Formats: sequence, C-alpha cells, structure tokens
Amino acid sequence: MPTSRPGRPPGPDSGRFAVVDPATGEPFAEAPDQQPDTLDAVVGRAHEAWRGWRADPAARTAALRAAADAVEAAGADLAPLLTREQGKPLAESAAEVARTAARLRYFADLAPAPQPIADGRPVRSEIRWRPLGPVAAIVPWNFPLQLAAAKFAPALAAGNTMVLKPSPFTPLATRLLGSVLAAALPEGVLTIVTGREPLGARLASHPGIRHVTFTGSVPTGRAVAAGAAASLARVTLELGGNDAAVLLDDVDVDRIADRLFWAAFRNCGQVCMAVKRVYAPARLHSQVVEALAERAKSVVVGAGLDPGTRLGPVNNAPQLARVERYTARALAGGARAAAGGHRLDRPGYFFAPTILADVPADSPVVTEEQFGPVLPVLAYRSVDEAVEAANDTGFGLGGSVWGTDLDRAEAVADRLECGTAWINHHAELSLAQPFAGIKESGVGVAGGPWGLYGNLRPFVVHRPEEA
Ligand code: NAD
Repeated sequence: MPTSRPGRPPGPDSGRFAVVDPATGEPFAEAPDQQPDTLDAVVGRAHEAWRGWRADPAARTAALRAAADAVEAAGADLAPLLTREQGKPLAESAAEVARTAARLRYFADLAPAPQPIADGRPVRSEIRWRPLGPVAAIVPWNFPLQLAAAKFAPALAAGNTMVLKPSPFTPLATRLLGSVLAAALPEGVLTIVTGREPLGARLASHPGIRHVTFTGSVPTGRAVAAGAAASLARVTLELGGNDAAVLLDDVDVDRIADRLFWAAFRNCGQVCMAVKRVYAPARLHSQVVEALAERAKSVVVGAGLDPGTRLGPVNNAPQLARVERYTARALAGGARAAAGGHRLDRPGYFFAPTILADVPADSPVVTEEQFGPVLPVLAYRSVDEAVEAANDTGFGLGGSVWGTDLDRAEAVADRLECGTAWINHHAELSLAQPFAGIKESGVGVAGGPWGLYGNLRPFVVHRPEEA
C-alpha cells in the first residue's frame, strides 16, 4: 500500500500537507497546514463580520441566493476537483455540487418568524429569534461540499458567521468553494481553515465560538463535545450509523435489487445512512444474496474521472485498512464472500464490491460501521427477530423496510429505533425534513426549519397590555 497520506506534510517546515488521489494512492496537491494559534485571528474576524451580517436579513437572503448561483456557475471546476481528492464518480460530484447550491437556496428563503406566547394572561409576550454568533463547523471526507453546505447554509441564513474545517483528506474542493462563495458573501462571514489535528480540536474548544456543529465519527464527536464544554457552546453532532434494511417475505427481490444495492454501495458505501446490514427472510436469503452479488460483480469500478465508472475507490488508506480488516474478520469467522472479499490488484484504494453471506451476528462488519463497499446479508426467521436485530445497535440514524404490502411494511418501519425510516427506499432525504440520529448517531436536529432554529436562540420580550 502506498505510504503517502494526508496529514503528512511534504517537508518539515513547509506549512502544507499532501492531498492524495485515492484512485492512484499518490499525492497530487497540497493544502495549507494552518496552525491552531491562527484561530484567534480567524474567530476574531468572524466576530467582526457578525455585526453587519446579523443586522440585515434581506441582504442575507440576497447574498445567499447569489452564493447559490455562484456555486452552480463553478460546477465545472468544483466537480472534477472533488472527484480527484474524494474518489467518487464525476456525475456524483456534479450532483453533490448541485445539492450544495440547493441547500443555499433553500435556507436563503427560510426566515424565523416571531412567535407570540399566548397563555391567557394580559401580557403580550413574543419570541424573537436571535443568531448565536460565530459557529464552528467540522466535517468529514465523504461528502465534503454537501455536508459543509448543510452546516453553513442554515447557520448563515440564521445570521451567524462561520469558521469551517474540512477533513485533511478532502480540503481542496472546499477551499475552492470558499473562494467561490467569497465573491457573494461579505469578508469574514465564512472562513475555511485547513490543517491537521489539533486544528479541529482547538476550533471546537475556542472560547469565541458559540455553536459547534460537527459531522463525523462517534469517537471524534465525543471529543468535540468535551472540547466545546470548555466554553459551554451549543453542540450539534451528526455521527455514524449502522442502518439495517429489513426485507419482508412478500418483497419482490428482482424489483428492488438495484435500489437496495445502490442504497448500500453509493459513494463506495461511504455514506452515514447507507444500508450497512440486510436482514432477509430465511426462505429468500439465497435469492437476495445472489441478486446483490450479481450486481456487485458487474458494476464498473474505476477512477472517478473515467467515463463509465459507477463505483470509485475508498477515500483513504486508513479507511481501506478498516474495510479490509472487517471483511477478513468476517471471513475468518465463517462468512462466505458471494462477491468480492478482497482489495483489487491495482494502484489506489480499490476494494472489490463485496456481498457477505453466513456472517456471524457478532462480527464487527455487522455490529460496527464498515463505511465501505462491503454488505452483510443475514437470514431471519420471524419479523420480531429481524426488528430486534435491526434495533440491537448503539447507532440510530436510519433504517428501511422492503415489501409489497405497504401498510404492513409501514407498521414494521414504525418499530425501528432511528431518526428516519423508509419503505422500499433508503437515504432519500428532503431538504425540508428534520435530520436527527438517536443514540450514538447524534445530538440535536439538522435539516429543514429545525436546522435553522438549531442556529438561533429564543429571545423573549415580555410587555404588559397597559403601562
Ligand atoms: P472523523 O470523526 O475521523 O473526522 C471528522 C472530522 O473531524 C474531520 O474534519 C477531522 O479532521 C476532524 N477531527 C479529527 N479529530 C478531531 C478532534 N480531536 N477534534 C475535532 N475535530 C477532529 O470522521 P471521518 O472518518 O472523516 O468520517 C466518517 C464518519 O462520519 C463516519 O462515522 C460517518 O458515519 C460519519 N458521517 C455522519 C454523517 C451524519 O450526517 N450523521 C454524515 C457523513 C458522515
């Protein structure tokens, strides 16, 4: 495996770190390795900018709409750079750019409304929503632009300013996005900082930050929350998932196989709410395994910039090692690879799309988050057993139920312990819906108006009817 990895600067004092193309495993660019002691000045500028930005809602709406237009106009530059550093097929990068613009547009037009408090007393009390101040956002490498937008669009629309730190694995498209947005937003309203740890830790615990909004893994989420406790900043955490898909005995396997496959393998399985476990009735288990394995064997795997590629590489070397480790553990425990089960013999971080059958229920590929192109398919005997297994996890992001009788499927979906449950789909999200994992999958609510209010504080004015 190539040894170059992000986080390793090209030279001891260069002040930059290398960014690797996951399709080759080789560095192809560098990004600034910003030092934590620069954060005082950055957060100070975010405070300065906040004064003007919070004062004029109409100007904010106009600026955010212009920002959406600017992102769309820069799509031809943003998408290939995103593919180069992240690995995903170019069409998926273009779709991510489009979703980034869509988020800006959605939140540009969402304004908090003053709310009267009616409790029967002769007073006129009203909630007027106020922004919080500078917000820190820390995001992972799987959807760098769209997850950044999920942070900055509601935060800025609410009248806050933001300091945003992308993952060191994918800093480049976010930096370019920052310069595109700089043409539409006043200086200091959104600042992108890039660098290795402890930059994120210091940002999360910076005393000038009033809200820390983090997307990433559970252990880092815990560290971020502990850091933010120093200044008692508000914390929003969008963390990992181990979503189950429960197939009922009336499911039409041929009809749903494509949808189920892509619900697990889109973005090479590196999706927080990808299907990460499938529960199939024992009677249909082999048919489900074969249908998924057929697709895993025939899907075109390659560099994201190659036309025709449907599945790119895993994003980074540590993540590839994790996928390899979990698969090896499952195989050693008696699982059978109906497709894949190994790295591809080519440069870059490629892993063969893998379908695992006969996996022990306590194997880490079932109980933890594999976050890669590997899918275990487990057999169950009763629906109660399947629901219990689906809920038997520390995570609680999403889940799905698949079947022909929609009422029955919905009744089973209603029993899933998670933030969103789908029927015959998975991970289809609306900008207008709340996004809230339970258990270790998250704290706070993002998405829709809830995402806006998550960036506001209630300020109550209490006034009598008469002097
Ligand atoms: P990660 O937790 O390793 O890193 C996330 C971000 O935190 C990166 O920017 C990283 O540089 C930074 N970071 C690392 N150490 C830090 C520290 N001590 N303090 C502050 N910041 C620190 O996660 P990852 O590997 O980049 O991303 C994969 C994870 O993200 C998966 O668990 C996935 O499920 C989760 N995820 C969740 C959602 C969601 O909405 N729930 C969406 C996408 C990804």
